[in-house]
Amino acid sequence: MTKKISIIGSGFSALSAACYLAQAGHKVSIFEKNNTVGGRARQLKKEGFTFDIGPSWYWMPDIFEKFFNDFGKRTSDYYQLDKLSPAYKIFFSDEVITIGDHMDQICEEFERIEKGSSKPLRKFINQAQEHYDIAINKVVLKPGVSPFELVTKDTITRVDRFFKTISTEVRKKFKNPKLISTLEFPVLFLGAKPNQTPSFYSFMNYADFGLGTWHPKGGMYEIIKAMSKLAKSLGVTINTNSNVEKITVENGKATSIEVNGTTVKSDIVLSGADYHHSETLLDKAYRQYSEAYWEKRTFAPSSLLFYVGFNKKLKNVEHHNLFFDTDFEIHAENIYDEPKWPENPLFYVNFPSVTDYSMAPEGCETGFFLIPIAPGLEDTPELRQQYFDIVINRFEQRTQQSVKNDILFKESYCVNDFKEDYNSYKGNAYGMANTLRQTAFLRPKLKSKKVNGLYFTGQLTVPGPGVPPSLISGKLVADLIKKNEV
Ligand SMILES: Cc1cc2nc3c(=O)[nH]c(=O)nc-3n(C[C@H](O)[C@H](O)[C@H](O)COP(=O)(O)OP(=O)(O)OC[C@H]3O[C@@H](n4cnc5c(N)ncnc54)[C@H](O)[C@@H]3O)c2cc1C
Repeated sequence: MTKKISIIGSGFSALSAACYLAQAGHKVSIFEKNNTVGGRARQLKKEGFTFDIGPSWYWMPDIFEKFFNDFGKRTSDYYQLDKLSPAYKIFFSDEVITIGDHMDQICEEFERIEKGSSKPLRKFINQAQEHYDIAINKVVLKPGVSPFELVTKDTITRVDRFFKTISTEVRKKFKNPKLISTLEFPVLFLGAKPNQTPSFYSFMNYADFGLGTWHPKGGMYEIIKAMSKLAKSLGVTINTNSNVEKITVENGKATSIEVNGTTVKSDIVLSGADYHHSETLLDKAYRQYSEAYWEKRTFAPSSLLFYVGFNKKLKNVEHHNLFFDTDFEIHAENIYDEPKWPENPLFYVNFPSVTDYSMAPEGCETGFFLIPIAPGLEDTPELRQQYFDIVINRFEQRTQQSVKNDILFKESYCVNDFKEDYNSYKGNAYGMANTLRQTAFLRPKLKSKKVNGLYFTGQLTVPGPGVPPSLISGKLVADLIKKNEV
């Protein structure tokens, strides 16, 4: 039977769920508080420069393809996808490592750094591929309802890989600290420290070295535009500037939402906004998780970001650049163990205009600087400026050029903006980390245990942070609604 479904938010998970639910014949409306769709993946356009203000790494192209295939479409119906070659560059204090776009090049680079390392690397990536096939094709497609979902022939025979960490695994095989950092980098996308992340998650290394790094021409926002177009073609109504103020419950069932002071009657309410915030839209008695619960979770980092327009092309940089020229352990401690502003932060810089000329005016470069920080830190204009000076100085030193006098403008984004724009818990950027104790059925649930007809999706529930998991989260919750609410 056709249901009237109201969806809060318009991030990747909400758009994904909207498409699947509309395809199933439901009457779906999205209510987004901001003036554009896309959530954390919105875009900033200024003086001819285009910035993706959130995600910039397009990994796991198979998941995007599968999403569009489910609607009889292909990614190429909406955007042009290019494989980046090289994939990215890592700056260490005394050396640069370049990650090519296929295994032979990467093996050569590993051999250059540590003789004999290409053999264990191939073995490691083969095992990572095995994990990828199990994780992506089986485990991740489970709704996180029961622990038994994780018990399969494939996982039982590899159970040790859930209890060993990626850090131990990598250190057993490689000695050079730069190669260790290179192989620990992909799991940072899961939001926790590599020494807290199960070795089974090496599937991220296969995503990195095996599947490669891609770029949709025009930027990551092209995916949001594609999904919105698809959603509308399936009959979804998208309302922007529509702040949801309350979820109303009657006789234990979600019956409507309040949007800018107006009541919208609904058979089902699905929230794609941050889980913690979504529950604050309910009266206290209907919330499943207490403030103490959220306080105890390991959250993925927040970030200090700068969007910079340069009036020249820059030297010695690639599309993606990691600056791992300071101590990762100390920075990680400042994010997870003893939250404070890091003295010598690691950082990441994205120059999409190096490969995609549509992202900047001719002869210019679009730069996006990102420093991961603990959620909930103090955020002031002075601190932002202090950290801009730190990273721009290090950037100049490592890439051997001066750029400070070539900045046309810079915009910044940090904890306060994440809270203000997305109602993000403590201003987190990437949701809740995927540690062993926060995986699958141990994450906040897709379906409310207290309110009938109320569901959740997004990076704080299953499967976890990142764009591909958000697409999957939307599908999982849509499947659950289709199963439960006939
Ligand atoms: C800086 C940054 C860099 C990242 N880099 C990468 C990357 O390179 N690759 C990758 O895969 N992932 C990356 N991620 C993670 C990825 O962007 C997220 O996991 C994903 O976009 C989260 O989508 P979501 O569906 O959970 O919701 P969100 O994008 O958080 O969307 C939630 C929406 O709900 C809306 N909302 C909140 N409250 C209300 C309300 N009361 N009423 C109406 N609407 C409301 C918000 O405005 C927002 O639009 C990055 C994230 C950030 C922030």
